[in-house]
Amino acid sequence: MVEIKEGFSKLEHRYLFQEIARKVADFQKESPGTDIIRMGIGDVTLPLVPAVIRAMHAAVEDMASKESFHGYGPEQGYDWLREAIVRGDYAPRGIDVSADEIFISDGAKSDLGNILDLFSRNNSVGITNPVYPVYVDTNVIDGREIHFIDCSAANGFTGDIPSRPLDLVYLCYPNNPTGAVITREKLEKWVAYARDCGALILYDSAYEAYIRDPEIPHSIYEIPGAKDCALEFRSFSKTAGFTGIRCGYTVIPGGLMGLNALWNRRQGCKFNGASYISQRGALAVYTPEGRAQIQENIDYYLGNAAILREGLERAGLEASGGENAPYVWARTPEGADDWAFFDLLLRKAGIVVTPGSGFGTAGRGFFRLTAFADRARTKEAMERLVALCAG
Ligand code: PLP
Repeated sequence: MVEIKEGFSKLEHRYLFQEIARKVADFQKESPGTDIIRMGIGDVTLPLVPAVIRAMHAAVEDMASKESFHGYGPEQGYDWLREAIVRGDYAPRGIDVSADEIFISDGAKSDLGNILDLFSRNNSVGITNPVYPVYVDTNVIDGREIHFIDCSAANGFTGDIPSRPLDLVYLCYPNNPTGAVITREKLEKWVAYARDCGALILYDSAYEAYIRDPEIPHSIYEIPGAKDCALEFRSFSKTAGFTGIRCGYTVIPGGLMGLNALWNRRQGCKFNGASYISQRGALAVYTPEGRAQIQENIDYYLGNAAILREGLERAGLEASGGENAPYVWARTPEGADDWAFFDLLLRKAGIVVTPGSGFGTAGRGFFRLTAFADRARTKEAMERLVALCAG
């Protein structure tokens, strides 16, 4: 008889965003005339920048002739993209990462889930709380023991270093959902912890392009010793609007626990490379025009984040994040339950947010707003919120 992996029965019934979509759809059925502003899901809304579009059109043209056609590419990604990443993302920060330590993928979510192929089910896992749900769900599926590291305003939403040794530790900065960033000093402490107890840090820096404060590290490898204890996951999704194109990369240092060779073997066995067209698009992100154009989009989103912060303040709500991240994290008024506040915002103001408890128990009493909506709609949402809280 076919037996299904036990972990699936331990997953929360629905993925958070499916639950939100269901509630919004139900409300739309009840009240079809309501103009709904979606500040919930973390998807970008601006189109791809011209430099990327041009590169991808050219890549399609390559596919149209025998001489420049590309079939299967290297599973690790094309060397020209891996080298551009070294030159564009690491060398300028004085970080020694080589092209063969970079693996191109179809996005960070796949790599964050798939990386667990390398690790025994016996490993203990540390996960900050609240958190991007993928880290939790992928470990629940495998049946690993999870130790939650609570993040609160008191520790700047960066969690206290655990007093017990753990095997795998997930860190995500700038953070989804809190929009918090981590200081160099705090990240040094995490690296020291990992080196001390032999833990491996899985560092998700999908939002590093949003960092504006020059003191905040963009990569864990800015910390000396991190190459001995950390992998880094990055994505073109939020940097360059690739959520629908799909391209990201993972850095696996050469000398680290033999993981580079194992991942190479794993990818050779289960992955056939990201598409040539996506990788050509990603390459354009590193050209001077591409860089300038994506910066404009990121500035636009950060401008929205500033509007969210200001609106929440006017509404009298406590908020953080949004300065070096596209997410703003706010406390519900008067300790209201966050799902109840979600319903109130939807029904009375037509605004969709993400309830904090959807990201873990430590998110109770909070909600997340994203800066990815249209500017005018972001302003409109804040006017509605201010009116609701005043009323
Ligand atoms: N990591 C974090 C923290 C995210 O918030 C997201 C997407 O929302 C991802 C990774 C996934 O990115 P990708 O689109 O590259 O799969």
